[in-house]
Amino acid sequence: MNRFQVRKVAVLGAGVMGAQIAAHLVNCKVPVVLFDLPAKEGPKNGIVTKAVEGLKKLKPAPLGVPEEAALIHQANYDDDLALLGECDLVIEAIAERMDWKLDLYKKIAPALARHAIVASNTSGLSITRLSEVLPEAIRPLFCGIHFFNPPRYMALVELIATPTTEPEILDQLESFVTTALGKSVVRAKDTPNFIANRVGIAGMLATMHEADKFGLSYDVVDDLTGKKMGRASSATFRTADVVGLDTMAHVIKTLQDNLAGDPFFGSYATPPVLATLIEKGALGQKSGAGFYKKIGKDILRLDPASGEYVKAGAKADEIVARMLKKPPAERLKLLHDSSNPQAQFIWSILRDSFHYAAVHLGEIAESARDIDFAMRWGFGAGQGPFELWQAAGWKQVAEWIQADIEAGKALSSAPLPDWVLAGPVAEHGGVHTPEGSWSPAQSRFVGLRELPVYERQYFRENVLGSGAVSPLESGTEEFRNAELRVWTLDDKVLIASITAKLHLISPTVVEGLLKAVELAERKYQGLVIWSPDDVFSAGANLEALMPVFMKSGAKGIEPEVKKLQDAMLRLRYANVPVVAAIRGMALGGGCELALYSARRVAAMESYMGLVEVGVGLIPAGGGLAYIARRAAKMANAANANADIFAFLRDGYTNAAMAKVGTGAIDSRRCGYLLPEDLIVPNKDELLFVAMSQARAMFESGYRAPARRQFPVAGRSGIANIKAQLVNMRDGGFISAHDFHIGSLIADVVCGGDVHPGSMVSEEYLMALERRYFCSLLDHPKTQERIMGMLQTGKPVRN
Ligand code: NAD
Repeated sequence: MNRFQVRKVAVLGAGVMGAQIAAHLVNCKVPVVLFDLPAKEGPKNGIVTKAVEGLKKLKPAPLGVPEEAALIHQANYDDDLALLGECDLVIEAIAERMDWKLDLYKKIAPALARHAIVASNTSGLSITRLSEVLPEAIRPLFCGIHFFNPPRYMALVELIATPTTEPEILDQLESFVTTALGKSVVRAKDTPNFIANRVGIAGMLATMHEADKFGLSYDVVDDLTGKKMGRASSATFRTADVVGLDTMAHVIKTLQDNLAGDPFFGSYATPPVLATLIEKGALGQKSGAGFYKKIGKDILRLDPASGEYVKAGAKADEIVARMLKKPPAERLKLLHDSSNPQAQFIWSILRDSFHYAAVHLGEIAESARDIDFAMRWGFGAGQGPFELWQAAGWKQVAEWIQADIEAGKALSSAPLPDWVLAGPVAEHGGVHTPEGSWSPAQSRFVGLRELPVYERQYFRENVLGSGAVSPLESGTEEFRNAELRVWTLDDKVLIASITAKLHLISPTVVEGLLKAVELAERKYQGLVIWSPDDVFSAGANLEALMPVFMKSGAKGIEPEVKKLQDAMLRLRYANVPVVAAIRGMALGGGCELALYSARRVAAMESYMGLVEVGVGLIPAGGGLAYIARRAAKMANAANANADIFAFLRDGYTNAAMAKVGTGAIDSRRCGYLLPEDLIVPNKDELLFVAMSQARAMFESGYRAPARRQFPVAGRSGIANIKAQLVNMRDGGFISAHDFHIGSLIADVVCGGDVHPGSMVSEEYLMALERRYFCSLLDHPKTQERIMGMLQTGKPVRN
């Protein structure tokens, strides 16, 4: 089979979704042409240009860095149809109207490359009906590709085939969307709203209905149905406000228009309050008011009885909050048996979601796993409905649901499907088994879809009950201590996984890492620092150093800092490549750990920065020495006589302002990732890529970099920075303590009071880092910042 190549993608429609999909393609280095209608006035590309400009300001940021908006090739259907001939994939994301979409397909058909896949991002239209009017030649290449908003951040993409789609097309698209775009694919059947929106919106409607029934206000419902239930923190009503109440009504209308025979049809009625809000133009966040309204700093909520906005912020009953912390079986029993209205409300919405998922599973999805995945990846739920039901005790919960249906308490009188109460699922005690997840259509448990692309995921996401092994219990363990596990999967590359909370770097972690490097040099091709969860390392563990500090003050800390610095150098000059596999936060000491590795492989959502200033300290695990070394290197590359200071400025500012990259691409702009480092769109492929890198570096004859001295900016650099700091202090932009810390950072990155161009070593700069770090530890203002952070988790401004 030939390799499926996507050289260029066309996105049709530069609206909310199209523009953001184009942005994400840019993030993933996929060339993209973004089309929209020709503008009636002004330049023909006016509509697209406005959309692309909008991308730079949108929050959360769709682009890795705003300047890269320039990489989106702007086009319109009058002038640029010929560009379509260069595109291997065309994603249609125009307004949700069947007739408009069909007109457009007719218009573009003659210009398409013969092999191009054409996919619609429609949320609610039938993919099959769209395909039916397509020219014969396009039909086998047509399918649905349903991204979720915001597409950079939401993992889910639903792929939908029609009866005429070539199966190979979907496999190719799944591989591309997974590896190149980093998304998580669920194959959905061509039913209204597909899987996630079908189950998710039915769930929101059920929640609104039950909230009304139990007389709960929106803020209490949101407090109950967000984090406390392991769901997205925007919970129910705030999610509706964020999505847009008109958009939500649109999705609901699809249910109303297409599902007359659905046993839950009655629950698809538009809630009266939603209709009223839309009528008033209160469409949620985008129009400034919806279920909530923000006035200044105050959040108000609608009181549906009076139609007025009143103070929000009411919380769940403490007793119910406590029930929600219990393990699933105990939790559901407590909720079910309680007479507290909030507990009854939660039992009711859970029952509704289980009931809904069970009744619809056969019709909308291949297997129960796809519904659970869709709710996790598309709605930010920690767990899907089947996972929770199974964990809480399948049979018992099924009986409770059945009893509620019979008592007329459920949303629909539809009985639970037979497979719930008898046969393999009932016997197994749930839909998920190590063999696979229940598929009503096939009457058996089906496994995860096998495609070569998934060989890149050593630990594929799976559902509770699948028996998937945890990474930290896999492979062959070389050793572990209380905060680090050192193991291998392939006997070639050693993996070090920090297991401490937030993967903070303590003396125990350092000790383990040193042992790991030694072992890697003796027996392996490389060392990869990787953890299975979404934080690389939040920094050095200050609390672990507290006892030493209490006993001997900053003097006692100095040797500990030296040990950390020595460990960084040990990693950097190891005789095998050390590869940092970064995902999520890599802050302070965590960032330094990455910087002292031979290579960095970072998931798209990686947030790197030297943040020590926030607690009144300076980076002292080699972070500043790195900035100085990098400036010298860049200056040297530019010109033998280049002014080092010009290359130092950004690095200095990032450390002095504790700047954190807003993603891997921005972290690269900050200088915390280098041009040769890799950015991996899919977090689940991170370990695979990091291990491949380590092996490839070894196979290419890896040697550690030479230890060499390099020139620094010296006293003139310090004077330069200080002149600016004085202005900032005198202008009231920074405090006296900020000024002091800023000056110390300047001193280190410029190499202290030496001639410009003086040659220094890393050890020399690290000694400066250490000295100033310890002097700050003794400073009362720094102590205030540290205590504040440890106590409240928030930075203290002083
Ligand atoms: P939008 O209204 O923001 O943008 C639609 C774009 O289509 C506009 O740029 C408009 O100029 C263009 N357009 C309008 N009429 C056209 C026509 N006749 N021919 C060609 N172009 C035309 O819409 P959106 O929210 O980006 O949605 C686009 C598609 O994505 C829809 O099918 C929608 O169902 C789907 N979708 C939306 C979301 C969401 O959250 N907004 C999520 C997933 C999927």
